[in-house]
Amino acid sequence: MKKKKSIWLWVLFIVMLIVIGIVIWQFIAGTSDKLTEAEFLDLLMNNKISKNSTEQVYSGLHIISGSYTNSSGVVRKFVLTLTNSSYTSLREDNNAFKDFTQSIITLSQGNSPFMTLIINLLPMVILIGFYIWIFSSMSKGGMGGGMFGPGKNTRPREIKSDVKFSDVAGINEEKIELVELVDYLKNPNKYALMGARVPKGVLMEGPPGTGKTLLAKAVAGEAGVAFFSMAGSEFEEMFVGLGASRVRDLFSDAKKAAPCIIFIDEIDAVGRKRSGGMGASTNEQTLNQLLVEMDGFASNTGVIVMAATNRVDVLDSALLRPGRFDRTIQISLPDIREREAILKLHSRNKSVSPEIDWKRIAERTPGFSGAQLENVLNEAAILVVRDKRKMINILDIDEAIDRVVGGPAKKSRAMTMQDKQIVSYHEAGHALMGLRLESASKVQKVTIIPRGNAGGYTIMTPKDESNFSSKEDLFASIAGYLGGRAAEEIMFGKNKITTGAHDDLDKATNIARRMVTQFGMSTLGLTKYLTMQEESYGQTKGVYSDEVAFKIDTEINTILEKCYKTALEVINKHKDVLELIAESLRVLETITAEQIDYIDKHNKLPKEVIEEKNRKDVEDKKKESGEILEFEPDEDDK
Ligand code: ADP
Ligand code: ZN
Repeated sequence: MKKKKSIWLWVLFIVMLIVIGIVIWQFIAGTSDKLTEAEFLDLLMNNKISKNSTEQVYSGLHIISGSYTNSSGVVRKFVLTLTNSSYTSLREDNNAFKDFTQSIITLSQGNSPFMTLIINLLPMVILIGFYIWIFSSMSKGGMGGGMFGPGKNTRPREIKSDVKFSDVAGINEEKIELVELVDYLKNPNKYALMGARVPKGVLMEGPPGTGKTLLAKAVAGEAGVAFFSMAGSEFEEMFVGLGASRVRDLFSDAKKAAPCIIFIDEIDAVGRKRSGGMGASTNEQTLNQLLVEMDGFASNTGVIVMAATNRVDVLDSALLRPGRFDRTIQISLPDIREREAILKLHSRNKSVSPEIDWKRIAERTPGFSGAQLENVLNEAAILVVRDKRKMINILDIDEAIDRVVGGPAKKSRAMTMQDKQIVSYHEAGHALMGLRLESASKVQKVTIIPRGNAGGYTIMTPKDESNFSSKEDLFASIAGYLGGRAAEEIMFGKNKITTGAHDDLDKATNIARRMVTQFGMSTLGLTKYLTMQEESYGQTKGVYSDEVAFKIDTEINTILEKCYKTALEVINKHKDVLELIAESLRVLETITAEQIDYIDKHNKLPKEVIEEKNRKDVEDKKKESGEILEFEPDEDDK
């Protein structure tokens, strides 16, 4: 690829040289007539050549220039170019010519016309050289250079992936979802014959370092197909306007290599919501091209596009339509068991002291991503090498954790015990609302592992498949969102409530607003209040009077207050269940729908929680009796 590019540069260089040469030649010889030897001799015989001519001698070349009178009596300039040999023979054969050459001024020059040209061109050459230098240094940086045929040097990287699913620890449910894709990539024809439509695009959403890239590579590796990868930010760099052509390249290369995987990292860099304003920005052109490409290939071409982002909500909704990224896989930070699995996986190729209990390391690292855990092991290995020891021991791991937390990842939110307490009750509040409210959604999973700007989260799915929501459903949803805050208030008091409910309030308010302004479900009656979307600012602005706006806001507030009261009542009434859910969360970090049902039915902790608690108790006893070497976080760098 590199070679191809430099050839192009040379071609350009030479073409420019020729053009400039011609221009200068035209300039020098501009108005002169080029005479042949015969024409010149004829004119000379007829005394039509002026004696004011000059002769320039270069190595191997004689150039005679001056003026002559042409047949119509007009005086014109001329040039005559002779090679050395024809010059000499002319002088021998033709006395008139000899006399003529002796009578004119001879400017003998050592430089060939070529050298003269070069000297004249020197500034140009320097300029072009500079230009080439800029270009090549830019393309070394992986940018730009789309000048010579669209983005020749920015072709997406195609690699052969040898990652397997077994190299990805945890995220098991997500892997299961992807197995089908692997099968499809292995035998696209089987699916084509059945007329089965396989998803073209899979979007993976999750915080950085949770293994999204790894998972995409694993799909390619398991299927044994090519893997094209490109980061969203690479589409637009330095040279704006190239994004669209790069997208085109990416897809055309991929189609040739099908079956294959296209992986687009950080898709939010190109896929942000379009402003819908005047004129498409270059970023929008890139996004539009991406949409065109995704629509353009049939779902059976054997190309699957996998994209990663840590925020789906900023993506343009056009990307998420059927036939594009119609499947989203949520990948969250690993919970305690997943962390243990990741640690074990990455310790496979390292020599580790048998005394290390990965479960306990996993306990110490809530909020760590897979990448951070890998980094912990790597740092530990570096410490061992530095001290010329043979094996990673528990103190190395301890220091490595501190390094990873205290180092570049200080921003990462390692949870304090107090956070854990608050978040466990907050999430338990949501879960309890889901359990208790008739028409609410069913709780699938509750976790206190932080994600995005939420301390934890509760995943709910609608209980029935109906496309409509009743007024009751909506009230229940709002109460569900407010359940987190309500639990905090009940457990810690009105003054100890936290900002953790920020997102919940957003969602609850939204539902309430729509009930009032769009669904005719409030005392304001059936009127639909038009709103104007100002998408670029993510705001909704009403097109009604201030008076109406005031009424709407009051009504929204009434709904929210009513639902909050419901939430407080429910939680107060079932505080025992709340406690059990919260405790289970603190022990296991993530609990499933079954475990919640169990708590609800039997009003006691599930056996997994009890086992885990017992295990910890035993460990604590051992610690007290000094059987286990416990490590304490360094005080000085906290
Ligand atoms: P993302 O694309 O989500 O930002 P990556 O896939 O680039 O994250 O992960 C970075 C590295 O972290 C991986 O190469 C791998 O070594 C490690 N890693 C992350 N998650 C896992 C996991 N679930 N299992 C094993 N390793 C993981
Ligand atoms: Zn919440």
